[in-house]
Amino acid sequence: MPDVLVIGGGVIGLSVAFELAGQGLKVTIVDQSGFGQEASWAGAGMLPPGRFTAATTTEARLRSASHALWPIWQEQLTQQTGIDVGYRRCGAIDLAESPEDPEYFRLLDAYRAEQIPFEVLAATDLRQRFAYLNRDIPNGCWVPDYAQVRNPWLVRALIAGCQQRGVNLQSNTPVTTLEVNADRVASISTAHHKQLTADRYIITSGAWSQRLLQPLRFQLPLEPVRGQIVLLQEPVATFQHIIQVGPRYLVPRGDGRILIGSTEEHVGFEKQNTEAGVQGLLDFAYQLVPALRSARIERTWAGLRPWKPGGLPFIGPIPEFQNLWLAAGHFRAGLQLSPITAVLLRQALLGQPTTIDLAETSR
Ligand SMILES: Cc1cc2nc3c(=O)[nH]c(=O)nc-3n(C[C@H](O)[C@H](O)[C@H](O)COP(=O)(O)OP(=O)(O)OC[C@H]3O[C@@H](n4cnc5c(N)ncnc54)[C@H](O)[C@@H]3O)c2cc1C
Repeated sequence: MPDVLVIGGGVIGLSVAFELAGQGLKVTIVDQSGFGQEASWAGAGMLPPGRFTAATTTEARLRSASHALWPIWQEQLTQQTGIDVGYRRCGAIDLAESPEDPEYFRLLDAYRAEQIPFEVLAATDLRQRFAYLNRDIPNGCWVPDYAQVRNPWLVRALIAGCQQRGVNLQSNTPVTTLEVNADRVASISTAHHKQLTADRYIITSGAWSQRLLQPLRFQLPLEPVRGQIVLLQEPVATFQHIIQVGPRYLVPRGDGRILIGSTEEHVGFEKQNTEAGVQGLLDFAYQLVPALRSARIERTWAGLRPWKPGGLPFIGPIPEFQNLWLAAGHFRAGLQLSPITAVLLRQALLGQPTTIDLAETSR
């Protein structure tokens, strides 16, 4: 019998399985389809900076702790599997939508409060240093510590890393129910009438987690939020750093590919692209960097972000149960927060002091 059964093999489940197996635990991970094919594949892979000692909110503590873990985490994965996860500190420019854009100035205040290095750029600086940008952009700032990861490569490395650490990976295994005996989960059933048992269970089913939680009478209003992406291919890369304007962005992959993201749509489990969504993203990109009009549209896709009101994930034990844990609801930050989520669960399951108090992350 495994020590731990992880339900859902996106970046969160795979990272948790990888970390626990690294501590010698016997881990099984199941996914209803293929591993890492949902939000974790669809994401853009942006990894924003943070500074743990200056963080005053749960969001900032999670982000900054994960930011510090990323270089070590990716090195460990690459060394173990030989797979490059495309981690690079590429930097980012945040741009204001108008000269008085309140969101932009709030962002600068947050960078200041958290002691995150940034450089304010007036319109003339922007034109000189980033000549390809639309000349009407009023102001912006350069944030050197932004990084990115190629998330499909990350998922591939996590699967390989789990296999090498002896994790039992079972794809095409949809979990339908958790059988409960008093205050413990006794087993899980799958759509193929398989029953699996373990000492402890962790639900990491992303936007689908609610379906498993509801019958347990654990109310957590998790729901999917669709995000669409357009991938462009340029013959010669115009820029190498992330460009952000509010919730939309351009992420260059370093090989001429540029991701344009993204929409935020509460449309249930509908995962297809829409004409309006794709056109809106293209208009955004062309307006920002006019030269992109000549880039080829390589493909489009959409993913379902797991959203919980407030936007913070739930990471911790499920009350009323002795052996059930949940890590879900990472919304726009599941890739950046995957290392800290895995580390927190490892610490909690092994009775080690946790980097962040789980009382903060489990409400
Ligand atoms: C367009 C877009 C852009 C994004 N950009 C970024 C970004 O730049 N940076 C960032 O940090 N984050 C980003 N995100 C968010 C990030 O992708 C998610 O937060 C993260 O992938 C969530 O991971 P997860 O493992 O919880 O969910 P998922 O990747 O969705 O994985 C959940 C898994 O559980 C499985 N599952 C569900 N139900 C069951 C069941 N009953 N039985 C078995 N298996 C089950 C599913 O098949 C799936 O594989 C983006 C997301 C989108 C959509």
